[in-house]
Amino acid sequence: MNKPLHTLIIEDSEPDAELEVLALKQGGFDPVFQRVETAAELHKALTSASWDIILSDYALPGFSGPEALEIVQSSGLDLPFIMISGTIGEEVAVTSLKAGAHDFLVKGQLTRLVPAVNRELEEVQRRQAARLLEKKFLITFEQAAVGIAHVNASGQWLLLNQKYCQILGYSSSELLGHAFQEVTYSEDLEAELSQFQRLKEGKIPAYSIEKRYIRKDGSLIWVNLTVSGVWNTAFDYALAVAEDITQRKAMEQSLKEYTQRLEQSNQELEQFATIASHDLQEPLRKILVFSEMLAGTVSPEGADYLQRLQVAVRRMQNLISDLLNLSRINRKGQPFKPIHLDPLLQMVLDDLHVALEETQGQVIVEPLGIVEGDKSQIHQLLQNIIGNALKYHREHVPPVIKVSGQLMEAGKTYQITVEDNGLGIKEEYYGRIFEPFQRLHGVSLYPGTGMGLTICKKIVERHNGSISVTSQVGQGSQFRIILPLVNPVTAPVANLSPPIFK
Ligand code: ADP
Repeated sequence: MNKPLHTLIIEDSEPDAELEVLALKQGGFDPVFQRVETAAELHKALTSASWDIILSDYALPGFSGPEALEIVQSSGLDLPFIMISGTIGEEVAVTSLKAGAHDFLVKGQLTRLVPAVNRELEEVQRRQAARLLEKKFLITFEQAAVGIAHVNASGQWLLLNQKYCQILGYSSSELLGHAFQEVTYSEDLEAELSQFQRLKEGKIPAYSIEKRYIRKDGSLIWVNLTVSGVWNTAFDYALAVAEDITQRKAMEQSLKEYTQRLEQSNQELEQFATIASHDLQEPLRKILVFSEMLAGTVSPEGADYLQRLQVAVRRMQNLISDLLNLSRINRKGQPFKPIHLDPLLQMVLDDLHVALEETQGQVIVEPLGIVEGDKSQIHQLLQNIIGNALKYHREHVPPVIKVSGQLMEAGKTYQITVEDNGLGIKEEYYGRIFEPFQRLHGVSLYPGTGMGLTICKKIVERHNGSISVTSQVGQGSQFRIILPLVNPVTAPVANLSPPIFK
C-alpha cells in the first residue's frame, strides 16, 4: 500500500503540479495535495491542515519560492521545503539553500523528486527526535535534585541549573560570567584551586570535595562537589555537580559535640568513682581495726556480732575495690599489643591454682592464637570467667573446663570459648549476669560481689568486642568472647601442639 503524503504545492501551473503528483505516485506515495499560488492561500493552507512536505515553484506571477519559504519559516513549522524551478542557475540554487530550502530541483528532472522527498522526510524525523531529546535533557538538567553547572577554565559559570542557583541563593543571570572562586569560602578555596588546576592539566579526570559556598545572604552552605573535565582536543569546560550537605554536616557537628560531652561526663563519673572508692575504704579500715581491738573485751555473744560485722565490712571492701577496678578499665587501660594467649592462660591458671586444687578442677586447653589488646585486662577477663567456672560447679561434680579459640569472619575476629560442666544459668538471666551487682547465687555458698562479669563486659567493650553466654541448667555453660583483630589474619593458626591438661 502506498504511503499517504500530505503535500502542499506552491505552483501557478496546474499541469506542472500534476506532473509532480504523478512522480510521487510512481515513487510509492499516495499524495493528498493542495495547490496554492499566492501568499494568502499559503497562509490559509498552513493553518488549516497539517503537511508532510512543501514543493514550491521558484518564480510565480506575483509570488516567489523565497517569499513562500519565508512565510513557512516564520510560521514556526518544521516542514521539508523543496524548491522546484523551470530553469536552474547555480546562483538561484545557492540562494535558495542558504535561505533554508532543504533541496532544489529542476522541473525537467523530476526523477530526483522521490529520493529528495524520502531523504527530507527522514531528516525531519531526525530533527524531531533530536528536539525531543534536547527537551528531555533540559527538563532533567533543570529539575535535577542536585546542582549542575558548567564552568570555563578560569572558573566562570557558563551554565547553571535551578538547583545550583538555589544552593547559592543567586539567580542564574547574577552568576553567569562570575567565577566560582568569588563565592567559595576562603578556607576551602586553596584546596579546590589546586584540584581544579590538576583537572585542567589533565592529571586527574575528576575530583570530589566537601566545601563551603558563601550564599547571596552571606550564610555558608556545605556541598559535596564532584567536578569532571570535558575535553575537546584541549580542555573545554568543567562539569560540576553539587549536593547540599549542610544538614548532614550539622548532624555530624552535633554528634561530635555530643560525643565530646559524653566523654567528658564519663571521665568525670569515673573520676568520681575512683575518689569515692578511695575515700570509702579509709573508714572501713578503721572499723575493722577497732572491731578487732574490741573482740577481746566483749562477751562471747558480742564477739560473734563483731565477727559478723567484720565479714560485712570485708564484703563492703570487696564491693568498693571491684567498683574501683571497673572505673579503671577505661581510665587506666594500656595501649593494645599482640598477646599470645597460650602463655597468658598459663599465668591465669597459675593464679587460680588454689581454687583448682580446692575444687579438684581440670582445665583442658586447646592451643590458642594471638589477639590484640590490653594484656592485664585480658588476663583479668579470663581469670574472672575461669574463676566463675570453678566457683559455680555442681556439688560432688569436680569442674571440667574447656578453653578453646578460633579465628572467625575470615580472620577479622578471634573467638575464645570457655565451657564448664557447672550449675548452668537459666536463659532469662543471660543478660542480667553482666549487670553490676547481679548475682544468681547466695553469697554464703558462693562468695562474690556480682561485679566479675560486669568487669569482663567492660573490658570486652573497651576492645570493641562482645561477650555472651549460653547454658543448660544442671549441665554447664559456654561463655564466648569475640575480639576484633586490628590486623586480620588470613590463614587460620594451625593447631601445632596437643591439648594441655592442668
Ligand atoms: P560473682 O561471681 O562475683 O557473683 P559475676 O559477675 O562474676 O559475679 O557473676 C554474676 C553471677 O552470674 C554469679 O553470681 C552467678 O550467679 C552467675 N554465674 C557467673 N558465672 C557462672 C557460671 N560459670 N556458671 C553458673 N553461674 C554463673
